[in-house]
Amino acid sequence: MSAKYIFVTGGVVSSLGKGLAAASIGCLLEARGLRVNMMKFDPYLNVDPGTMSPFQHGEVFVTDDGAETDLDLGHYERFTHAKLSRDNNLTTGRIYEQIITKERRGDYLGKTVQVIPHVTNEIKAAMRKVAATGDVDVVLVEIGGTVGDIESLPFLEAIRQMRQELGRDNTCFVHMTLIPWIAAAQELKTKPTQHSVKEMLSIGIQPDILLCRADREVPREMREKIAAFCNVETQAAVIARDVPSIYEVPLNLAQQGVDTLALKYLRIDAPEPDLSKWKDIVHRAYNPKDEVSIAIVGKYVEYEDSYKSLKEALVHGALAENLKLRVTWLEAEGLEVEDYVEQLKGFDGILVPGGFGKRGIEGMLNGIRYAREHKVPYFGICLGMQTACIEYARNVCGLAKANSGEFDPATPHRIIYKLRELIGVEEMGGTMRLGAWTCVMEPDSLAAKAYGTTEISERHRHRYEFNREYEAVLTGAGLRLTGSSPEGTYVEIVEIPEHPFFLGCQFHPEFKSKPLEPHPLFHAFVKASFANRGLMKAEATVRAEVKA
Ligand code: GLN
Repeated sequence: MSAKYIFVTGGVVSSLGKGLAAASIGCLLEARGLRVNMMKFDPYLNVDPGTMSPFQHGEVFVTDDGAETDLDLGHYERFTHAKLSRDNNLTTGRIYEQIITKERRGDYLGKTVQVIPHVTNEIKAAMRKVAATGDVDVVLVEIGGTVGDIESLPFLEAIRQMRQELGRDNTCFVHMTLIPWIAAAQELKTKPTQHSVKEMLSIGIQPDILLCRADREVPREMREKIAAFCNVETQAAVIARDVPSIYEVPLNLAQQGVDTLALKYLRIDAPEPDLSKWKDIVHRAYNPKDEVSIAIVGKYVEYEDSYKSLKEALVHGALAENLKLRVTWLEAEGLEVEDYVEQLKGFDGILVPGGFGKRGIEGMLNGIRYAREHKVPYFGICLGMQTACIEYARNVCGLAKANSGEFDPATPHRIIYKLRELIGVEEMGGTMRLGAWTCVMEPDSLAAKAYGTTEISERHRHRYEFNREYEAVLTGAGLRLTGSSPEGTYVEIVEIPEHPFFLGCQFHPEFKSKPLEPHPLFHAFVKASFANRGLMKAEATVRAEVKA
């Protein structure tokens, strides 16, 4: 059987959670024993999000093959076992780049190159490529943007053609909309959904299933009305209600029979889904035994989407310990003050995530210093590892001006310097050290113990690295370099042994954490932070007793 397709589109407004919905449907199909793959088309003109600001675009998710992709691919990987690569996320920019390369090569044999058929053909070929990777029963294709946008038209036209070519039994259209609550009228409104479906119809697509986002219960009559007006079966007007944990979304959709309906339309026979593991995760999320509080000190913290995978990886670590996660985002620049210590008191653990550019670095260094000196568990990721090395060089080794070439090119002590293979590379797009690389660890390290092995593969996204000229000075003063690339070129993990948990890694472990497979480093960090919480509580009790 060749693969069938489910297309997920969106209307009314953006940010409805289409990616999560698509991932959740993928999850339900997998739970029925089907093999799924997932892809996303983004209608913007950037070739990939790698060069876009995290404020604008949110996190850049990195795949094993080093593609810099949309954060929805993170949802896909967390909810399914789909193996994602650069083929699974295409932008208008990438499609046009491919077409223009062909045109310059003369591949079009003198023809006029047009949106239809050349752009739509390229889009369809990209879908077929993913479907043809073998071992896949259903490909879920999410179209970014909102119906009605000029940019998304070629993608919608391409999926319309796919239905024409493959037929009703091989394609299913899922359209996501919003049922807003109008506070002044105290009413839910279906009109935007009706208009959105009308918009879809005007380009030749009749949605099969509607996922209507709503912030509260939607009465049955309203669902019936939507179904009647939008020409779908009553049970196909599905309510995607806001839920406290995103891991409840698959259960919520299953309860309304979304998977059953999609499989009915696609004429696929599959057993009932086994959702016991997801139920367990949701049960844990809603019944924590205690909580753990983590401060994240970073530059893009006012916009949580910038660190999507990071936040989720912490959630996974907390779920594994049956804890509720409390995250406080601390703007790094705000810690560049005399009494920064005051802002850092009371957190169970401190984390400095990845980042670029000079802004806020001194604040991060203060945060790290506090964690190191007060024995608060510290987890540094990428930039967070680099800054941990700089902090150590400055405040333990006495190299007061130690820095990274990225923030102070003239520093006398370049603890962190440009990756050697990138010297002379000026182009920004796709030129970092990207994707999965092997790391070997010292068997007695904190990292190896957490992983339970000494060799791992993790994903990278950086331009700078640890400068081994400073290895002797730093290790002489107690820092341990416990992980490196197999041939020893790159330092991948640093630790402070006389500390309950102080670990920095050059890679981004957050990209590989899943709710059902929490990442070992995040799990270990959360565990250590919770242990610190216990210690802090005990100390507070003692202090209170002494006072009394
Ligand atoms: N800016 C640093 C570098 O390029 C860290 C990158 C990151 O944290 N992803 O090496």
